Amino acid sequence: DTSTILARQAARESAARTYARHFPIVPVRAEGMTIHGADGRTYLDCLSGAGTLALGHNHPVVVDAIRRTVDAGRPLHTLDLATPEKDEFVDALFATLPTPFADRAKIQFCGPAGTDAVEAAIKLTQTATGRGGVAAFTGAYHGMTLAALTASGGVAARTPLAGPSLDVTRLPYPYPYRCPLGLGGDVGANAAASYVERLLDDPNSGVLPPAALLLEPVQGEGGVIPAPDHWLRRMRTITRRHGVPLVVDEVQAGVGRTGSMWAHEHAGVVPDVLIASKAIGGGLPLAVVVYRDDLDVWAPGAHAGTFRGTTLAMATGAATLRFVRENDLPAHARKIGSRLLAGLRAIGNPAIGDVRGRGLMLGVELVDADADPDHLGARPAASTLARRVRDECLRRGLLVELGGRHDAVLRLLPPLIITEEQADAVLDRLADALRAAA
Ligand code: PMP
Repeated sequence: DTSTILARQAARESAARTYARHFPIVPVRAEGMTIHGADGRTYLDCLSGAGTLALGHNHPVVVDAIRRTVDAGRPLHTLDLATPEKDEFVDALFATLPTPFADRAKIQFCGPAGTDAVEAAIKLTQTATGRGGVAAFTGAYHGMTLAALTASGGVAARTPLAGPSLDVTRLPYPYPYRCPLGLGGDVGANAAASYVERLLDDPNSGVLPPAALLLEPVQGEGGVIPAPDHWLRRMRTITRRHGVPLVVDEVQAGVGRTGSMWAHEHAGVVPDVLIASKAIGGGLPLAVVVYRDDLDVWAPGAHAGTFRGTTLAMATGAATLRFVRENDLPAHARKIGSRLLAGLRAIGNPAIGDVRGRGLMLGVELVDADADPDHLGARPAASTLARRVRDECLRRGLLVELGGRHDAVLRLLPPLIITEEQADAVLDRLADALRAAA
């Protein structure tokens, strides 16, 4: 039963386990946005496997892709050999890429975790540019392997024993609510962009041109912070001026979640390298790096890995990508996302410092309502309260995770198939949980 399973796993698993700590539930069945626990309770899932389940749990097209592949007697694992499933997957993925990126795109299968695709992107750009270091942003999250971790901004997430494995130039990410440069809103975003331009343009800045400028168009783990489009366009201009590959990490924001197929499309920029994982596998592990063909200068085996050819993931990934595109789920994400954003803003709880997001990638930053605001109008982050709200949500059958600089941001990552009724239920439960916790 539930408590036995929880106790047995807590006794034998590492101290590093995470979600299992916050969510003492034992999922035994799931469909769409709903998870059923072993104790008979149901939960509305706003985690979606950390953004992986674009179509929710056990969507018919995903289940059917698995059945068809198994029924056809396909080899389940094929390293990076050519298979019909891989062909279909690449076709489906390339069909989602905007032109002109798609016209000159090459793909390398990785990992299959997002962090491995980040490693691949860093090594690829190092090889192509002959440069060692990369530029990355405050609050960034790129993964748990050493280079990806070093490129991440969250100090708390870093292993203290890890020495610098990569020379990283840390740049300020635009964060309108708490801008690292002490300037809020668009003024802050503009200042952050100017700072990057100065560093790269000024031959005396001490910053060497990096092998890559690595960024998330919307920071997820960093607290759900969408970068303004004009900021991203300026990053594109400055990187082009200095021959620095622009690498967009869309591991979390990709595949329709932000209301366009790829989050960088909102700004109308063309990246040099796109990192994708999570939702591209339709719930099974898959990670890729897609890049402009002239960067494809690395040697055979330069980025290898055993699990680059998981047939089932290719099949579920292709089915998911096709479904997202054919049913225009990005448009649905925009529609339900606006409803959620408006609903969250209307909750009007004094502990809500900021509500933000793009499409179905939404964040609610909780603050200490009694503290004085700083010169930007922001109050101190309320991490303890955020944990209480997460627990109160769980009690009300709603799964939400925390993130952000102080773990005080409630992060909503519902599946793209969420209905209006489900969105309203999320809002009701969240408002109620806030009232109970605040
Ligand atoms: N990049 C981003 C933007 C992410 O959100 C994540 C995971 N949350 C990663 C990289 C790492 O992916 P993975 O956990 O699959 O290694």
